[in-house]
Amino acid sequence: MRPLAQCQALLAAVLASAAAVVSTSAPAQDRAGERAAMIETIKSHARSAPSAVEGQGIDPAVLATMAKVPRHLFVPEELRGAAYRDRPLPIGYGQTISQPFIVALMTDLINVGPGDVVLEVGTGSGYQAAVLSPRAAKVYSIEIIPELGERAAARLAELRYGNVEVKVGDGYYGWPAHAPFDGIVVTAAASHIPPPLVEQLAKGGRMVVPVGAPFATQFLMLVEKRQDGSITTRQLLPVGFVPLRGGGTR
Ligand code: SAH
Repeated sequence: MRPLAQCQALLAAVLASAAAVVSTSAPAQDRAGERAAMIETIKSHARSAPSAVEGQGIDPAVLATMAKVPRHLFVPEELRGAAYRDRPLPIGYGQTISQPFIVALMTDLINVGPGDVVLEVGTGSGYQAAVLSPRAAKVYSIEIIPELGERAAARLAELRYGNVEVKVGDGYYGWPAHAPFDGIVVTAAASHIPPPLVEQLAKGGRMVVPVGAPFATQFLMLVEKRQDGSITTRQLLPVGFVPLRGGGTR
């Protein structure tokens, strides 16, 4: 029996590595050098923002994930050359893909692990969702502009981020059917912390959300729900996000 079991284990290992080769084929491996340089830039940016970054800087596991996600496939073709610069880029419909440092920071701050369920409000290109994907059990992401949501969902499926589910809708109200969430990332600036999202945060969960008026200074806020249900908020650093639209922000 034993040799057979070993054989099966070997076969399973071979199949798994074949699958890994397929899923990280050409596009993911392309431009690895530029991604490595982007990671160095994120690290130095993190050193200059110590009040926002907890502990020893951005979690190396977050950076390792970002070293694999092909950011150039999340930006319009004509901007692919600039994909690994530490800056936001336009993605159409007046929206932007966030700057890599901010993606790293937000991913680090919600501090989720393999069993966790995450909500993202503002799918945009799908890049932040792709970075969250290997770090959580499931990622739910909501986008209010149908064309962006549909495009991001197709791209994420094509790149095999199979645990990400995108829906078109107003993320201000969250996604009650899948709540509570261990982490929530809001990637558009709200005039206030949306109460439905606080409601849908799990005990022990964390939410990052930019808060402030459009075209005025916004601050990235960290919201934590303790085990007793009480809420703490912390203002971290000034940021510039596109505005959160929809019913709840009027
Ligand atoms: N996380 C994205 C960046 C998105 S920019 C990325 O990685 O590319 C912010 C996005 O939030 C935009 O696409 C915008 O259309 C979307 N958005 C704005 N208000 C929203 C709302 N109420 N619900 C869901 N998405 C919203």
